[in-house]
Amino acid sequence: MERSALESDIQFLPGVGPKRAELLRKELGINTFGDLIRLYPFRYIDRSSIVPIREIRPDMAYIQVKAKVLARELYGNAGVIAADNIYGQNQDVSGNGAPAATGSGPDIRFNLVRRMRVVVEDATGRLELVFFKGIKWMYGKLEPGKEFIFFGKPTVFNGLVNIVHPEVDSAPDRQSTRSGSAQQTDALTMTGVYPSTEKLKNGGITGKAMCKMQEHALNACMPDIEETLPVWFLKQQGMVPLPFALKNIHFPKDQQSLERARYRLKFEELFFLQLSLLKQKYIHSRDEHGIQMPKVGEAFNRCYEALPFPLTGAQKRVITEIRNDMKSGHQMNRLLQGDVGSGKTMVAVLTALIAIGNGYQACIMAPTEVLAQQHFKNISKYLEPTGVRVALLTGSSRTAERREIHAGLEDGSIGIIVGTHALIEDDVLFRNLGLAIVDEQHRFGVEQRAKLWRKSACGMPPHILVMTATPIPRTLAMTLYGDLDVSVIDELPPGRKPVQTIHASENRRPALFKFMREQIALGRQIFVVYPLIFESEKMDYKNLENGYEQIAKAFPFPPYKTAIVHGKQSNEEKKFNMDAFAAGRANILVATSVIEVGVDVPNASVMVIESAERFGLSQLHQLRGRVGRGSEKSYCVLMTGQKLSKESRHRIQLMCSTENGFELAEEDMKMRGPGDLEGTQQSGLPISLNIASLAKDGLILNEARSCAEAILEEDPTLSLDKNRLLMQELKKDKYNIKDYSKIS
Ligand code: ADP
Ligand code: MG
Repeated sequence: MERSALESDIQFLPGVGPKRAELLRKELGINTFGDLIRLYPFRYIDRSSIVPIREIRPDMAYIQVKAKVLARELYGNAGVIAADNIYGQNQDVSGNGAPAATGSGPDIRFNLVRRMRVVVEDATGRLELVFFKGIKWMYGKLEPGKEFIFFGKPTVFNGLVNIVHPEVDSAPDRQSTRSGSAQQTDALTMTGVYPSTEKLKNGGITGKAMCKMQEHALNACMPDIEETLPVWFLKQQGMVPLPFALKNIHFPKDQQSLERARYRLKFEELFFLQLSLLKQKYIHSRDEHGIQMPKVGEAFNRCYEALPFPLTGAQKRVITEIRNDMKSGHQMNRLLQGDVGSGKTMVAVLTALIAIGNGYQACIMAPTEVLAQQHFKNISKYLEPTGVRVALLTGSSRTAERREIHAGLEDGSIGIIVGTHALIEDDVLFRNLGLAIVDEQHRFGVEQRAKLWRKSACGMPPHILVMTATPIPRTLAMTLYGDLDVSVIDELPPGRKPVQTIHASENRRPALFKFMREQIALGRQIFVVYPLIFESEKMDYKNLENGYEQIAKAFPFPPYKTAIVHGKQSNEEKKFNMDAFAAGRANILVATSVIEVGVDVPNASVMVIESAERFGLSQLHQLRGRVGRGSEKSYCVLMTGQKLSKESRHRIQLMCSTENGFELAEEDMKMRGPGDLEGTQQSGLPISLNIASLAKDGLILNEARSCAEAILEEDPTLSLDKNRLLMQELKKDKYNIKDYSKIS
């Protein structure tokens, strides 16, 4: 059987060969013709317009100039070696013994030439071109008096606009413009620009070469390209077929064809991702029965009635969503997103009490010991009026205590267990676990979650509620958690005062310390946070130590008390210091970002973040969420160095201008791409996107998701004949997203 051209080894493509094939493999991961044609241009250059030289501005992107060569000048290390005079005659100006250049100059010693300057002219003005490489060949080509099309990006050097290493094409003369073939090239006005690296360019794979390769590969593959979307679906959506899309993404016939090609390819990518995620969810909810919990129960009602505050509208809505899941008879798999301070703990407690009310146990897992302890404290308080027994199990629980807890969980006398990872690593058995709540889900690996599922004793998986305070842009959530239902608490409890965010650099430190003293005199407490980035752990601790010393000096004991918390301390040490601060015994807490999540000290009203430029937006937002929890006006001070990169400055400015976590997350994703978003590195995207962008293509994603839903609604297993192509595509390796099916 003949193999498809798509699978042909890239080295056999005309103009490639083993050496370039190796480069393509290493630099771009391209092994076959098929891989190559799926490498799309990330930008296009409009080749149809010619810019008059007078109108060139240095801030223009790539431009095209049609101009006549006036003169060439060759420079060596010591200055000009040879130059045409402006009338096109050669002239020896070197005075250092190099012979005058004539014509293409066989007597010019090109090995001495370091740079060539070429002056070109059109009817509107003169422009300078500069070459550092391939000079001999260019020198021969750019004969004075001849006209060319030059193509490149204008830059400014010494106050003059020039183009470095333009591409050079001969200008079409009048006769050939009228001929058929020239018209064809005229029609192709847009040229793709492909991802490239220095190594590729040095290996001869220039932009031009890449276009040529794409042309060869497309021609070879075209007969073998198979449609991935059924014809009825293409018709319904008004989308172009795959061969058209591939052809036009590389060589757009016109702007409209390019847009249709791009839409089709982006759609396809997002659609299959959603289809694969949702299919798992559909099959799962059809096959997998969940524990039915029809009642809310007495414990819920007692707790609810004793609440010190009315629930916000968003909290009520989310609890209704959860309640509907739990009584449905299907397993709940829900992600609860809510900004810091939005009141997720309350929702968690009430959800746990629904499980209790139906005769089941619940567990609540936190990512760190400190957070587990804090949860335990808060939850115990809310549970007082209910009489439900709650216990805390962490890595530092003592053996005797541990034994007692194990017994309580096995005989069912403990209703709710709060803990860390220890909860699942430990050989804990439940009498009847009906609900697992995972706080700050991104810190838990998929494996760990899977272990938790297995803890169910009654043969049915527990309901799952995953909570996260890292706001994730909706498009990303839909992709990362495509098979979870998502609830959002988008409303903060009333009476929250905005946190005033201030940016200051080192020279303002005396003013900062003065401000801190004033706040302490008012009875407030202060966080001072240092970044901890693993690459330079030693230096980070050094910074932290120096910072601590500086603070201790500026705020001496008595009357001031400063506590310090960092990752190198033992759990007891950490707890001792945290407790001292939480109980108000210390005025200042110097810490690394370990306090990022969850820590609740309502009396703390100032958050000072040192080297704030080293934190990402989400992290800054998390840290700022530690203040503004009490009734006092709160402040967040972002300390940075004097000099900031453009990106850092933008981040800091955003922080100062908004407190909306979702807005910040969207911006973060736009600036850094979804892959780098904090909180998502661990889970990562299930497959990498080639052309679609979660930051920019939200609308297409919505469309793709509802299409996938509609198809699965009718045919959850994709076994109808009309969906055959879809099933075939989903069988490809890249959609075999094993980890994700484990979530449920
Ligand atoms: P999250 O876990 O979402 O960051 P918490 O559950 O810790 O937020 O709640 C933050 C603070 O808001 C807590 O002090 C909590 O008691 C309070 N709180 C929660 N819900 C409400 C509400 N509906 N009205 C007033 N205060 C609330
Ligand atoms: Mg919380």
